[in-house]
Amino acid sequence: MKLLFDSVTVPTVAIAGRAERFPVHRIYCIGRNYAEHAREMGSVPDLGAPIYFLKPADAVCEAEVVPYPPGTDNLHHEVELVVALGTGGRDIAVAQALDHVYGYAVGNDLTRRDLQAAAKAKGNPWDVSKSMDHGAPISPIRPAAQIGHPSAGRIWLSVNGVLRQQGDLSELLVPVAEIIHGLSRLFALKAGDLIFTGTPAGVGPLRPGDVVDAGIDGVGALRHRIG
Ligand code: MN
Repeated sequence: MKLLFDSVTVPTVAIAGRAERFPVHRIYCIGRNYAEHAREMGSVPDLGAPIYFLKPADAVCEAEVVPYPPGTDNLHHEVELVVALGTGGRDIAVAQALDHVYGYAVGNDLTRRDLQAAAKAKGNPWDVSKSMDHGAPISPIRPAAQIGHPSAGRIWLSVNGVLRQQGDLSELLVPVAEIIHGLSRLFALKAGDLIFTGTPAGVGPLRPGDVVDAGIDGVGALRHRIG
């Protein structure tokens, strides 16, 4: 089949230690998945109804310089554990969920916080606050075959060398296996799906020129400058 637009390509992410790259199908995200972050956003931590949203697959960004997005004066960082699925499915049981994980990465769920706040205030969808170009900086993926399935470990982010966010993966309100289970009851998950699993407390603004460093023990590190 000949494509009408031959410039359309599948977004991909590097895999640590491998020449092959990980093709991205979708980017799912979960909101308010650390209690302290839920509180700093003015919410009560709620286990009953996880907040899911999506980013476009081509929002993945591995560039050293991440462009400051248009339409915002309050771009926020959110460091997150990212799950990369190697196989998909529907109605995946919690006990089998981790078998579908190819690997893990460190991501920054960039957020136009002013647009999100304005949308929330009006009861409108806040997609545009999350779905911008280059809105999902991500580290190389580390295969679970090498690092296992991290359920604890420090997750942190600093800006210009000053620590802003810090937490531990053990604080995830909805753990990875339950996120996969929950998403698979709403969507047909597929190989190539990425899942941003939520951010610990300490989110804050980024300005052009800021240098972001982030990391998760046992998973990897992420560094970029805001353009
Ligand atoms: Mn987030």
